[in-house]
Amino acid sequence: MQYLFVCPMPNCGHEVVVEAASDEDAVQKIMMAGAEHAKNVHPNMPVNENEMLEMVKTQMKKL
Ligand SMILES: [Zn+2]
Repeated sequence: MQYLFVCPMPNCGHEVVVEAASDEDAVQKIMMAGAEHAKNVHPNMPVNENEMLEMVKTQMKKL
């Protein structure tokens, strides 16, 4: 299954698409891809890891 997560930062809209076997797997993969994106593009993102986790869980979409 494919899952989509759109970066929640204003004026970004970066899309992360991952291939995952389950919701839990997708959350992990999106978190990893998101951390890389945040490090590169939003080094001062005012969101901690737990908040990011909540956002991924509530906002990711199954494609
Ligand atoms: Zn972004």
